Amino acid sequence: MLTLDILKEKLTEKQRIVVTTHYKPDGDAMGSSLGLYYWLQAQGHDVHIIAPSDYPSFLFWMPGQEDVIIYTQQLDRSHQLIEDADLIFCLDFNHLSRIHEMENPVRNSKALKVMVDHHLAPENFDDFRHWDSSAAATAQLVYDLIVNQFGDREHITADIATCLYTGIMTDTGSFRFSSTTAQVHLIIADLITLGAQNWKIHEHVFNSSTENRLKFLGFCLLNRLEVLPEYNTAVFAVSREDISRFNVTTGDTEGLVNYALSVSGIRLAALIIDRKERIKISLRSIGDFPCNEICSTYFNGGGHRNAAGGSSDESLENTVLTFKTILPKYKNLLTQ
Ligand code: 5GP
Ligand code: MN
Repeated sequence: MLTLDILKEKLTEKQRIVVTTHYKPDGDAMGSSLGLYYWLQAQGHDVHIIAPSDYPSFLFWMPGQEDVIIYTQQLDRSHQLIEDADLIFCLDFNHLSRIHEMENPVRNSKALKVMVDHHLAPENFDDFRHWDSSAAATAQLVYDLIVNQFGDREHITADIATCLYTGIMTDTGSFRFSSTTAQVHLIIADLITLGAQNWKIHEHVFNSSTENRLKFLGFCLLNRLEVLPEYNTAVFAVSREDISRFNVTTGDTEGLVNYALSVSGIRLAALIIDRKERIKISLRSIGDFPCNEICSTYFNGGGHRNAAGGSSDESLENTVLTFKTILPKYKNLLTQ
């Protein structure tokens, strides 16, 4: 493991740096990566961001997003950059399997790996770690790294503030989740002071739906939501036909699972969706219910207590059945 002082020392000289984040990056993944990218670039380093896959169109307005290299679209260039890198910053993921096909290139790279993350049970692949599972977002940890570890608040530009604000806003459900502490609000206030235009960011992220996306939402609410009152659970099951009928693209299902959680009395919500290559599961809960336990035990996944995900190789119908057979084991926790 590197110490902070050694990392600081390294960063006094120009380094070749790759910043990467998890597959299907969300607002926090992109916000934290782009914020750190700008900051490292301003220190004179040669920095590239490589995302393992495409990301939602509601993030296409973000500063610097035009510089993002999508791994699957530029394999040779990505491999070269990963191979040549002195440092690889791994943001918003705790296990190299979360970067899918990039796992082996990154694992085998001679570069020093820096993990900045807030997911439980991190894998030991890194050489330096700025990790805190109680952090509301990885963007919060990037803020802490720059301001408190590197003492460099003065180099937080309006673009960096905008990226970090976006990460914290999206990972806290717009400052609603229990992770939204007073400290988070203080950081948010500082990011606004530093130039993040909060109202514009909300506008970009939440008022950018296509007509298809809204119709898809209406369709799912009407036809694909099943409420199981005996378990205080609600489930959306979305088929491949639904996806193609409404032309659903990356990001269009973001937030859908929260509608299931918004039904009065519901403690556990699931979105089970047939994504061609595999069935993707998203769980959300209220209170003590451990979504991450269900995802790691039954669905090859993980995450946080109140928000976790995983996947299944079974059919959509069988995955829904598997999910339902798990519920009786948790009946006490769901109904107490
Ligand atoms: P989402 O349901 O929005 O895809 O993911 C919610 C959270 O669950 C993510 O922040 C991530 O921590 C976790 N997660 C989602 N999918 C997976 C997965 O396939 N594997 C693991 N380990 N965690 C996941
Ligand atoms: Mn995050």
